[in-house]
Amino acid sequence: MTTSGRYATHEVLNQVPPLAGHDVADDAALLAALHREGGGWAEPELHELGELAGTAETQEHARLANVHKPVLRTHDARGYRIDEVEFHPSWHYLMATAVSHGLHAAPWADERPGAHVARAAKFLVWTQAEAGHGCPISMTYASLPALRHAPELAATYEPLLTAPVYDPGLRPWHAKAGMLAGMAMTEKQGGSDVRANTTSAAPAGDGSYLLTGHKWFCSAPMCDVFLVLAQAPEGLTCFLLPRVLPDGTRNTMYIQRLKDKLGNTSNASSEVEYDHAVAWRVGEPGRGVRTIINMVSATRLDCVLGSAAAIRQATVLAANYARQRRSFGATLIDHPAMIGVIADLALESEAATTLALRLAGAADRAARGDPAEAALLRVALPAAKFWVCKRTPLITAEALECLGGNGYVEDYSSLPRLLRDAPLNSIWEGSGNVTALDVLRALARTPDSADALLAEIDLAAGDPRVAAAATRLRAELKEAAGGGQEAEAQARRLAAQITVVLQAALLIRHAPAAVADAYAHTRLEGGPSAAGPATPFGALPAGLDLPAIAARVGPVAPGR
Ligand SMILES: Cc1cc2nc3c(=O)[nH]c(=O)nc-3n(C[C@H](O)[C@H](O)[C@H](O)COP(=O)(O)OP(=O)(O)OC[C@H]3O[C@@H](n4cnc5c(N)ncnc54)[C@H](O)[C@@H]3O)c2cc1C
Repeated sequence: MTTSGRYATHEVLNQVPPLAGHDVADDAALLAALHREGGGWAEPELHELGELAGTAETQEHARLANVHKPVLRTHDARGYRIDEVEFHPSWHYLMATAVSHGLHAAPWADERPGAHVARAAKFLVWTQAEAGHGCPISMTYASLPALRHAPELAATYEPLLTAPVYDPGLRPWHAKAGMLAGMAMTEKQGGSDVRANTTSAAPAGDGSYLLTGHKWFCSAPMCDVFLVLAQAPEGLTCFLLPRVLPDGTRNTMYIQRLKDKLGNTSNASSEVEYDHAVAWRVGEPGRGVRTIINMVSATRLDCVLGSAAAIRQATVLAANYARQRRSFGATLIDHPAMIGVIADLALESEAATTLALRLAGAADRAARGDPAEAALLRVALPAAKFWVCKRTPLITAEALECLGGNGYVEDYSSLPRLLRDAPLNSIWEGSGNVTALDVLRALARTPDSADALLAEIDLAAGDPRVAAAATRLRAELKEAAGGGQEAEAQARRLAAQITVVLQAALLIRHAPAAVADAYAHTRLEGGPSAAGPATPFGALPAGLDLPAIAARVGPVAPGR
């Protein structure tokens, strides 16, 4: 492109136009997985959402929602407490789009097999527009399996939580057309060890409880209801706490301040205090962790989906740039060192997407009563949450560097925002160690889970590399199931191994040969360290079909 000017030096050369006007759902690995896992009927809507996500208009909404951070209004002009958060209109645009496409709790009201898969694919596509608003969307999705432990409450709230209507504003349930749900577990003294929570719940005598205490992290405080952990007389218990009581008065949940965060800036994460706030019990008294774990598990699936989305988006941006930018007389992607990087990122992206959709398929079938899929999910989900989320910051940083200095500049692409957002999925819903330790818990308490995992991997055991890795993994799983200090010390390695072997097995069965071979060759044959940080991206061995692998990330087709 040239800008007219008096000097030749004022010509703008070799700059890559912004990537916009494309269909984000033009993703061969995602579309194949969508059909394989039973959500193929949603493909037309997926493209509709993908085209919307790719527009310059949506990208501008994403920028605005992050640049104009949410503002806490504790009081109104007359001094009354209101505890409301004010968002930029672009936040509401993103939320309204997500809810109207059923990315929140809609699948729980959809009888069609594959409803959770369809929703997962849509979440993966739409959160490539903007990740921050995915937080209340995910929590609403995840709240239903826990809320159903209180059938009477579910009867009131489920129709509103599943309704495809974004209806913001603090009003009682009977004055709303759609509702959103949040979660409040973490306290100042610790988030992993929730049994140390100090918030108390006193029976009010009418079936409700009065909660007094604090929560150190409460994302999306403008949600209508929250699942909260508090100490009842019987021990830690799960409660449903509405922001507005059925009589229209505001519950005594006070927002103290909003967090000033590294990323995720569109989303209003807050600190809150309860002063005899009214709540109703969900699940058995004293079994709060057991109840809310249903919610945590579903949000972990979204952590994997959200990370797969970030990996895909970063990889597409890097590949798009490398295909147009020139250096030393060639386009970047034609330099051997650069195509190695793009191909390596493409491998990670395809592996993450394929696994994320496989887990969504397992969640869909588990929700319909399939015990083998539930067992697979029990161990594979925390392992994937550990590994895929942990890869994301590294991958995003590598993709950013493909744009050189331009990658570091805020208005050149969304990569700086992606990088700031990238570590979060690994932190919440169980930070790395805690999630890795949950893999051990799954192996110890749900012995079927190891069998289900190995059975899934064995489907690809015709490949000698997968067969050899499965043999090693079988021994490690057995050893880890016994628990103990040594097992804990090895938990991260095991979680990584489970994920990488499962990803390799899935790619062998479902990906083009060039991708599957390269992944198995580089991630399985080099032993555990090949999947670890000691190996930089782009250090692929000779003999792989790098152009075929890179082709999996476009060129992305323009929206129709
Ligand atoms: C932006 C943001 C939004 C959030 N939103 C919410 C929300 O809406 N609701 C909510 O309830 N929480 C929320 N959280 C809190 C989040 O879930 C917690 O931060 C997380 O669970 C970890 O708890 P912690 O910060 O207290 O860390 P700690 O529990 O103190 O852990 C610190 C570190 O020690 C590790 N660790 C802990 N125990 C062990 C162990 N036994 N062995 C080895 N290592 C261990 C952890 O993995 C972690 O790396 C949010 C956090 C962030 C950053």
